[in-house]
Amino acid sequence: MKIIRLKPGKERSLLRRHPWVFDGAIAKGGADAGETVRVESHDGQFLAWGAFSPQSRIRVRAWSFDEARRIDAAFFHDTLRRAIGLRARMGIDSNGLRLVHGESDGLPGLVVDRYGDTLVAQFGATGVERWKTVIADALLALTGCERLYERSDASARSLEGLPEVTGWLRGSGPTGFELTEHGWRLGLDIATGHKTGYYLDQRDSRLALHAHTRRLRFGTVLNCFSYTGGFSVAALAGGAGHVTSIDSSGPALAQARENLRLNGLDLSRAAFLDADVNSSLRQFVAEGRQFDAIVLDPPKFAPTAAHAERAARAYKDLNRLAFKLLPPGGMLFTFSCSGGIGVELFHKIVASAALDAGVDAAILQRLGGACDHPMTVAFPEGEYLKGLVLMRQL
Ligand code: SAH
Repeated sequence: MKIIRLKPGKERSLLRRHPWVFDGAIAKGGADAGETVRVESHDGQFLAWGAFSPQSRIRVRAWSFDEARRIDAAFFHDTLRRAIGLRARMGIDSNGLRLVHGESDGLPGLVVDRYGDTLVAQFGATGVERWKTVIADALLALTGCERLYERSDASARSLEGLPEVTGWLRGSGPTGFELTEHGWRLGLDIATGHKTGYYLDQRDSRLALHAHTRRLRFGTVLNCFSYTGGFSVAALAGGAGHVTSIDSSGPALAQARENLRLNGLDLSRAAFLDADVNSSLRQFVAEGRQFDAIVLDPPKFAPTAAHAERAARAYKDLNRLAFKLLPPGGMLFTFSCSGGIGVELFHKIVASAALDAGVDAAILQRLGGACDHPMTVAFPEGEYLKGLVLMRQL
């Protein structure tokens, strides 16, 4: 068993059960990619079992803080069983859900989503990459699914020195799927869709928009970064008068149109703009347009804290433009899925955007990732998705 010895004082985060050891914390020791190592404090005290990652700044990811625990097939089976069992108790109103959410489920780097009877997995770190066969077998055994598609194409793989891999890992079949969420039908493709096929994490936020629309009957809704129109379906199904969806991806917008059709929604109440959101918002401001509700759900501007400053400027600019397009009483549903932007910073960014736009706004509600994307107190980075629902003051 290879031992990784930390520098004095560097044991603190592992003692608090944070699962990452950065390269700078290590005094000595090394191992192969994904190999299980024993992490010890500078004076030889056991801290954790973990997976070594020779190329990543996150040099070790912890599997267990229990010295007696063996990291073997039974460990993965048990940990997966607990993650999957938790979802079974959540009563999620969808046939698509996240079964394993990486560090928050004790399996650093592993994401597994279930779409009907098909599983989609992302192996995002050397540890889970090394145990891939064991994990795949356990997943099929625990879920009864026969098909597992691999979507190991997230950019984080390159930081681990791992190549992109996509394709069927177990079984085969069509990759198109119809998600049923809150009774809505949403078409997607697990091979070509974003993430594992869809933004399952925004499930509760789509329902929140729907609920507000039902109460307030927004006449006009602007859905920025619409992807395949999940928020657009939510708003139209809630009785919105007209919804404009903007995205820079033509295929995503084509699927958005199809999703409206699947739900029997009136396409004459919808517009689709294949455009850059920033320039569209500027143009709308110049034209003096207004929208009763605006959704801003941009892609990840700050994957890590190192990108936070530039990302903060980009978020602020978008939110400032959105505030300018809101009439008094209008509502903004604004999100950040950047791990590098914390809840408080996001709040500050939105507040200063309102100030710059010259509007007062009240926060009506805070939103976050759906419950199958859990957070743990030990791992604050897990709280990557945050949202605010604001109303412009009268
Ligand atoms: N709200 C969506 C998810 C949005 S993901 C949902 O609930 O499903 C972010 C989207 O932003 C992607 O579809 C991507 O194509 C789009 N995008 C990224 N940069 C953009 C830009 N500058 N202008 C318009 N769309 C952009």
